Amino acid sequence: MSNGTNGQTATDDAADSRNASQRYLSTRGDDYDLSFEEVVLKGLATDGGLYIPEAVPEATNWQSWKDLSFPDLALEVLSLYIAPSEIPRDDLKGIIDRSYSTFRAPETTPLRHLHDNLYLLELFHGPTFAFKDVALQFLGNLFEYFLVRKNVGKTGTDRHHLTVVGATSGDTGSAAIYGLRGKKDVSVFILHPKGRVSPVQEAQMTTVLDANVHNLAVKGTFDDCQDIVKALFADPDINSTFNLGAVNSINWARILAQIVYYFYSYFSLVKSSGLTLGDKVRYVVPSGNFGDILAGYFAHRMGLPIGKLVIATNENDILDRFWKTGRYEKKPAKGEEAKGGLAVDGVEAHEEGVKETLSPAMDILVSSNFERLLWFLAYEFAAVAGMDDEWNRKQAGQEVSSWMKELKSSGGFGPVYQDVHASAKRDFESERVSDAQTVDTIKSCFRKVDYVLDPHSAIGVTAALRSMDRAQEPHISLSTAHPAKFAGAVELALKDEAGFSFEEKVLPPEFLGLEAKEKRVTDVVNDWKAVREIVKRQVEEELKGLA
Ligand SMILES: *Cc1c(COP(=O)(O)O)cnc(C)c1O
Repeated sequence: MSNGTNGQTATDDAADSRNASQRYLSTRGDDYDLSFEEVVLKGLATDGGLYIPEAVPEATNWQSWKDLSFPDLALEVLSLYIAPSEIPRDDLKGIIDRSYSTFRAPETTPLRHLHDNLYLLELFHGPTFAFKDVALQFLGNLFEYFLVRKNVGKTGTDRHHLTVVGATSGDTGSAAIYGLRGKKDVSVFILHPKGRVSPVQEAQMTTVLDANVHNLAVKGTFDDCQDIVKALFADPDINSTFNLGAVNSINWARILAQIVYYFYSYFSLVKSSGLTLGDKVRYVVPSGNFGDILAGYFAHRMGLPIGKLVIATNENDILDRFWKTGRYEKKPAKGEEAKGGLAVDGVEAHEEGVKETLSPAMDILVSSNFERLLWFLAYEFAAVAGMDDEWNRKQAGQEVSSWMKELKSSGGFGPVYQDVHASAKRDFESERVSDAQTVDTIKSCFRKVDYVLDPHSAIGVTAALRSMDRAQEPHISLSTAHPAKFAGAVELALKDEAGFSFEEKVLPPEFLGLEAKEKRVTDVVNDWKAVREIVKRQVEEELKGLA
């Protein structure tokens, strides 16, 4: 079963209706002129790169979107990236409406004033209480839409079937499961390290009993789970029989869906404060794989008046080091650790691999979506030479390929050209936040405004407070998870505070009794071939059930 073009995809648009922001290319240059459907179903490009639109659309009429509801705004934003010949507007509206009907907040992503010029964008009102729901609710419906359309009139083994395989340390897995549960022609396998995800996250995943959802508890670490997934994607055997799909943030549809809340929160701020349309706002984003903040970069390029995008990292700070030094490397060069001057809790030894912090969803060694920004930086650099667009794109693809090769072979690259680093600094600033500072911010926010932050959101707020010392503009800090998902860190920060009770201040009713519910999970050994056999057997059973 392949994702190749068929009569129902719109790859043969008339040339005059071709819109560059609705056609896609790979950051590494060898895979180009793809439709939205193709990039969503393929996930990763054939040349190992990530898909981006050929051009960022300019939203000349963005101010007229001010009073739209979240789903209606999403329709406007997404329409710029998806050709109506691929998904007719009414169908797209249906997909969007279904995706956000599962959110508990009427505004989908409400904006809350914390104090002074600081606002918090609450992104955790979806089914799993994490910001990843915003994208994965949409992606699940999108997968189903494409598959159902491909399968019109097909029965049995002729049907296209997508087998989604992913590894999780918590948040992605539960959001992916809730996005894909019960979807037609899709099976989902989520690997988590047994006993190493928080009890709430484990229960969120394993209490989903839909037949197409398979939780695999691996005896090993999160890295072991990721290695197994990578081995499966590289295995010709399983790839020739099954059509594997990815739900991690390399999937373009996830970035796309996240652009919407930058616009939406800007309008919320205009409506609730003295801000005028056109005034600049700073966005602060707790970052790991760079997907969330990259969506902000697209919003900015589309025309939203963003003063700066402030990257907030935890002690896994590869992004912060890039902005400070122009070098992108897994391990900092000797003597480099102290230079940022932010490690108030001491210069810790950077050992091999990822550092475990209080904000596990940001514990990464390299940020996969950073490659997408690199492409735009390289393109801008190439364009200075005044050659045609095709040449600039080719240059950008070659530059990104060589950086990525170096990252793979020697663990890093750079310093990048000064002009490239300068364009990165024009749009972004960065901050690194330690565990100790995270805990302090959870405490001070509770004391000051009686609000409980989760550790990831607290990293954003810490970075926002630093940025507010430099800039007068209003700050919107993104809140990426509900505090109840990270009870350990929240209790650590607030257990001795007067008036704090986890049950009363934090725990949502949806989490009550969750851990006692019926669960379905398969224990597996840390061996990718054993996992492959389980995946094959269970998909075959599911397909038989459909026949
Ligand atoms: C995934 C995640 C992040 C990081 O987002 P990226 O898009 O990977 O940068 C931050 N906070 C939480 C709670 C997350 O789940």
